[in-house]
Amino acid sequence: MTEQLDTIHRPSFPITMDCGGLEVQGFSIGGLATYMMVPEWRICFDIGECPVEAIRFPNIFLTHSHGDHARGLLRHFSLRRMLNMPPAQYHVPDFLVQPLQNLAQAWCDLEGHRNRPEYIPDFIPIGKHDTVELNRQLRVTSFPVDHRVRSLGFTVKEIRKKLKPEYFGVIGHELGALKRQGIEIETETAHPRLTFIGDSTIRTLEKEPHCLDSEVLVIETTFILPEDLEMAKPKGHLHLFELMEFLAADPDACRFQHLVLKHFSMKYTRSQIVALVRRNTPEFLQDRVQLMI
Ligand SMILES: [Zn+2]
Ligand SMILES: [Zn+2]
Repeated sequence: MTEQLDTIHRPSFPITMDCGGLEVQGFSIGGLATYMMVPEWRICFDIGECPVEAIRFPNIFLTHSHGDHARGLLRHFSLRRMLNMPPAQYHVPDFLVQPLQNLAQAWCDLEGHRNRPEYIPDFIPIGKHDTVELNRQLRVTSFPVDHRVRSLGFTVKEIRKKLKPEYFGVIGHELGALKRQGIEIETETAHPRLTFIGDSTIRTLEKEPHCLDSEVLVIETTFILPEDLEMAKPKGHLHLFELMEFLAADPDACRFQHLVLKHFSMKYTRSQIVALVRRNTPEFLQDRVQLMI
């Protein structure tokens, strides 16, 4: 117990990490809180706590309804209201829209704002395989995640346009003229930059192998000790050993350059987490692993 108390967690203070030039800021300890902000994209994944830094983020993506991932949502909404900021876009799994509206209504009543619909966020429903166009360059796609409750994961894709080979060498104003005639002179590719998975079992990676294609893969490893291996699946979580065994089975499939591990159980100390992850990560992934602790 005293050793555990040596590791004090402060969910309101995000940890900053550099993932190959992409900055992410977040906090994630199982049962306590998870959120992850990407300032360059103005996106925040999950909002189990609403640190002051998160208020300015206009795009919130929610993976599932567990309190440690969702508890800060209404706080985010009311803080933006208080600061006269426009409402953020709350992208939530479609099956959560009604329960979240009910929750917001109850909170609204408690605060004495009965019959004030402006105090209820407009939740934007996302299905299992949806695409959200954030802007001309960024697209967020969803996929189902295996957890104890229904859950979604998200991949941010960067849209890159390339001139079709048949137009190589054509000068600028001629290309402009072709465009004005409605001729498609470019091809588009969607490059997967980051995949965010909230809480999950190993089944998500088995069923959604595209997760390994993103430059940055953010995933949980709630449990890390050998004696905790059996409890991971029934609790709807991942064990470090399961993840590493899965990844080691096919190194070529691991196209991500950064693997961010998060959502460690509160019962582990930081030094325990660092030592166990280092010892159990295969050689080819040692330089790619980063810990959100
Ligand atoms: Zn959780
Ligand atoms: Zn959960």
